[in-house]
Amino acid sequence: MSSKAAEDVSNIWDSPTHPSYFLPSSANQSLLSPSFIVHHYAPMKKKPQASTFNIIPPLFPFLLLLPMAASDPIHDTYLQCLSRHSQSSPSIPPISTLTFFPTSPSYSSILQAYIRNLRFNSSTTPKPLFILTPTHLSHIQASIICCADHGLQMRLRSGGHDYDGLSYVSKLPFIILDMFQFRSVLINWEDETAWVDSGATIGELYYKIAEKSRIHAFPAGVCPTVGVGGHFSGAGYGNLLRRFGLTVDHVVDAKIVDANGRVLDRESMGEDLFWAIRGGGGGSFGVVVSWKIKLVRVPEIVTVFRVEKTLEQNATEIVYQWQHVADKMDKDLFMRLVIMPVSKKKTIRAKFVALFLGNAEKLLDEMSERLPELGLKKEECIEMSWIESVLYWSNYPLGTSLDVLLERQPSSEKFLKRKSDYLQKPVSKEDLEGIWKKMIELGKPVLNLNPYGGRMGEISEYETPFPHRAGNICKIQYSVNWKEEGDDAANKYLDLIRRLYDYMTPYVSELPRSSYVNYRDVDIGTNGDDGNASYEEASVWGTKYFKGNFDRLVEIKTRVDPNNFFRYEQSIPSLASWRSIMSE
Ligand SMILES: Cc1cc2nc3c(=O)[nH]c(=O)nc-3n(C[C@H](O)[C@H](O)[C@H](O)COP(=O)(O)OP(=O)(O)OC[C@H]3O[C@@H](n4cnc5c(N)ncnc54)[C@H](O)[C@@H]3O)c2cc1C
Repeated sequence: MSSKAAEDVSNIWDSPTHPSYFLPSSANQSLLSPSFIVHHYAPMKKKPQASTFNIIPPLFPFLLLLPMAASDPIHDTYLQCLSRHSQSSPSIPPISTLTFFPTSPSYSSILQAYIRNLRFNSSTTPKPLFILTPTHLSHIQASIICCADHGLQMRLRSGGHDYDGLSYVSKLPFIILDMFQFRSVLINWEDETAWVDSGATIGELYYKIAEKSRIHAFPAGVCPTVGVGGHFSGAGYGNLLRRFGLTVDHVVDAKIVDANGRVLDRESMGEDLFWAIRGGGGGSFGVVVSWKIKLVRVPEIVTVFRVEKTLEQNATEIVYQWQHVADKMDKDLFMRLVIMPVSKKKTIRAKFVALFLGNAEKLLDEMSERLPELGLKKEECIEMSWIESVLYWSNYPLGTSLDVLLERQPSSEKFLKRKSDYLQKPVSKEDLEGIWKKMIELGKPVLNLNPYGGRMGEISEYETPFPHRAGNICKIQYSVNWKEEGDDAANKYLDLIRRLYDYMTPYVSELPRSSYVNYRDVDIGTNGDDGNASYEEASVWGTKYFKGNFDRLVEIKTRVDPNNFFRYEQSIPSLASWRSIMSE
């Protein structure tokens, strides 16, 4: 092992926010042993022994404001429970200092810090009874035990990018377990793996990789502020998809706190649960604290381009041809297509945005052979490193410092709605013209087409819960953003995007009409407000996200969380819980 690698490996287990950091020092020799992990943390009914470590975990500046002492007797009851079930020592802050009730001056700023959809940031949006911001595993364990004891729903939040706000809103009494302080990224360069905490953003992960290497990368999302916790839980994809597949295709281990408060890793959780957490959707199986990933290698030079064409510039013909080649081109090429109405001019703009894992010359050859209709020119291609392409894809000007990847707040907040579909056969030119007409009429919704094929076609649909592999030309994201406040505006824009979705019915996958779980969409069905649903009710939305894998997810959920502790509007249902409700 090189000294550099050795240094990084030791870091993995020395991070203040790493799950194993707080394990007693006597256990150092067996830190890697899963049996150690389960044995020392389960069952969590008694107060565990205090750790002997002497560390102060990193806190957000605003957390230095200590929560106001809870004077309400109900708050006291919760705090007593949380304190009873968690550790506290000179190195582990008491859980009371990490628990924020509405009376705390920091409550609103912490709540709002990770709301990424303004639709769920109004005075009428239901608010949590308290927000817990754990820095230690026992804080997570205590939150699970105390929520179960007091019949509270728990919402799990990492980056807060859930499109329908399900990580921080519930109609029933609830708390938020906000993971943003669990955010270390520790890379082992020797075996090209990393442990990434759920509260890290993918931008922070990319930054850490680029700090040391120009030839390593990780296949995850395009937007740097997305949280690792939810993104990995829902499969995750980005512009390396055609070459490397999904994010979860590169997860090799994980640490999770389950519904019994046990800390498990891959070996101790078993292959079924490990399968389920890699794409079965967040918040159903436990709190994933940390993920071990395998990095991928990319060339030192990659090439990007962004080219726009309107209808007057032959967009219909180019889009038509794009459908025939986008999933069949060189797997090193990912060419996204964004289609938007320009209502004032009564036209459509088709934007082609690409990442090619190679130089401009090779890209031009591929494009002139496969999609000559686009007429790509040499001056439209820009060569750069992979990490620079990450910034380019996030619309930062060339030359922007990599430090922007560490910013956790997006440049602007929006009201928004997203929906998704899968395209399996090309749409005719005549029908494309009908879609354009509809988009111009609706004026606002945008279509984002992300090509599949390549590596995606080589992996079985049963390998992970994410089933949309071979046979898809592309995934379609329907997108609408708006700035106006209030229900009237929201209803207007929701109606527009739903009308476009309805219009697209004849052209997209059917039986089931499929959706991507990370593009959360409660329109396709829910478990109801209390999160308890029968198999039949849940399978309405479940088969759209997971197709045949839904049954395996339900079977695993019934085994690992029979009481359905981890539940919400689109959580995987537990058959045991449903049977017991029915027999009451
Ligand atoms: C601006 C933007 C850009 C996006 N770009 C992409 C993209 O390029 N590719 C892509 O695939 N997706 C993309 N997405 C979708 C994104 O992957 C999902 O919304 C993802 O679930 C967000 O994860 P999060 O941790 O930020 O969200 P959260 O809202 O915190 O969580 C989402 C879900 O996961 C659960 N969850 C959160 N943390 C944990 C945890 N630690 N353990 C278990 N469950 C947990 C939550 O309860 C919730 O159900 C984008 C979303 C936005 C808003």
